Amino acid sequence: MTINETVRSLVRATRQIIETERALGGAVLPAQGTPLPVIERPAAALAESAESVAAPAGVSAAHAPTAAAAPRAPKLHSDPAVLARKAAALEAIAQEIRTCCCCGLRAGCTHAVPGEGNPDARLMFIGEGPGADEDLQGRPFVGRAGQLLNKQIEAMGLKREEVFIANVVKCRPPGNRPPTPEEAAACWPFLKRQIEIIEPEVIVVLGNAAAKALLNTPIGITRLRGQWQELWGVPVMPTFHPAYVLRQYTVENRRRVWDDLQKVMERLGLPKKKD
Ligand code: SF4
Repeated sequence: MTINETVRSLVRATRQIIETERALGGAVLPAQGTPLPVIERPAAALAESAESVAAPAGVSAAHAPTAAAAPRAPKLHSDPAVLARKAAALEAIAQEIRTCCCCGLRAGCTHAVPGEGNPDARLMFIGEGPGADEDLQGRPFVGRAGQLLNKQIEAMGLKREEVFIANVVKCRPPGNRPPTPEEAAACWPFLKRQIEIIEPEVIVVLGNAAAKALLNTPIGITRLRGQWQELWGVPVMPTFHPAYVLRQYTVENRRRVWDDLQKVMERLGLPKKKD
């Protein structure tokens, strides 16, 4: 085959790939107006993916931590139409949250805290629930722990508004206690829908209570942190909650969190920073 014939053959093959991707609304040429995919997986597929790591006693295979998920294709764009559609869908959920009375946490809360950030974020941070400052402002992670989280996000080379920040429960548990399993279960549909809409490439789950609720595992954060988990094919990195780091402000703890975040940066293809 001559060079010209080879080039023509390559061009033909590339064109076929692009046409196929276009037809599927895939990553090479994103299709306009493609409906939001729902990342629910059939029970069989969930069970199959969970087989790689034996579920601890009492943990359903469908929700158990698994080995690191296969890398997802990075988002190639922030199409204004996609952003607007996702923003509207998230605002609709926020309105539902603000009027929700599905669990007892509503009674003691000033403002529900739906979450905030880029509706098409590549990275989501998920904590356990609002604290006093968040309850007053109706915004997530705005107190001292939030300031530390902001610094961590900036250290990753990102801006707060580029990521999406949410919590497992949207109303403040009294006295900043961890949410009960019943409260987390009552609020779960909101977080699930937020994840489905945003379609993050990576989730960072902050702290023991959030990791247990999100991953449905009894394993504590000290053992879990730094090891990739998976939720519906989305890689999840558990790490210490910023409030814990502030309480135990040691070089070791700060180093552990930074190590975890560097794994996230690597997964997202973000430029490596100096330690
Ligand atoms: S914590 Fe969640 S489920 Fe409970 S009242 Fe608030 S929004 Fe509703």
